[in-house]
Amino acid sequence: MKLTVVGASPSYPNPGSPSSGYLVEEGSSLLLVDCGHGVAGKVMGLVPLAGISSILISHMHPDHYFDLVPLTYAYKSQSLPPIPLWLPPEGRSLLSRLQDVVGLPPAFFAEMFDVNEYDPEGSLSCGDIGIRFAATRHFVPGFAMRFEISGSTNRSLLFSSDTSWTEPVVRLAHRASVGLVEAALESGASQDDRQGHMTPREAAGLARQAEVCRLLITHYPRESSEALLAEARSVFGGNVALAEEGKVYEI
Ligand SMILES: [Zn+2]
Ligand SMILES: [Zn+2]
Repeated sequence: MKLTVVGASPSYPNPGSPSSGYLVEEGSSLLLVDCGHGVAGKVMGLVPLAGISSILISHMHPDHYFDLVPLTYAYKSQSLPPIPLWLPPEGRSLLSRLQDVVGLPPAFFAEMFDVNEYDPEGSLSCGDIGIRFAATRHFVPGFAMRFEISGSTNRSLLFSSDTSWTEPVVRLAHRASVGLVEAALESGASQDDRQGHMTPREAAGLARQAEVCRLLITHYPRESSEALLAEARSVFGGNVALAEEGKVYEI
């Protein structure tokens, strides 16, 4: 299984860089996970759109799905057949309201995507990749995801989405080969912010408790990257890196 980081910016873009977006690939299955601002243009420079087999959105915050709008226009321009778009529960009505509010035509998304909502209590199979979920602790309903090769539990990728420390995500991350874990907060963040995100220390603590093999910190402000890497290392040990835009990771 391969992970390509499309964007690792937090809710605001690191200069020139997209927010949340990742490609997860195994066999003939290529998933685009999240589509935050800047992702549509970036992903088109990494893979042909026709190669993407499904899109999954972890939660309905702008930095995780707003670029579905330009991405849909790109699909239309290439006359591509519809592919599954998996949203969290209630995501479909939210996307429909966005469509109305910003003046997009009716069925704008539905013409290009087979729009579905995943059941976070169950599992999802997207070709060669199986996905399980855990509820995050965030400001809106959101879901961490664990990606595994269908029929195998040898290699796995945990994506935390946006969350503060929460037991269900720790359990979902248990012994994952790679943990792609958010650290949107700096150490001195306010208590309010701490209800929905993690500092590098907390992200590393979650990964360590879950016995994750390798930690990739994501959703981070680039201006403090050296300090946050050092902070994460102080808790997790050596096998930690910052998720780098455009880089491919073997899981
Ligand atoms: Zn976010
Ligand atoms: Zn969020």
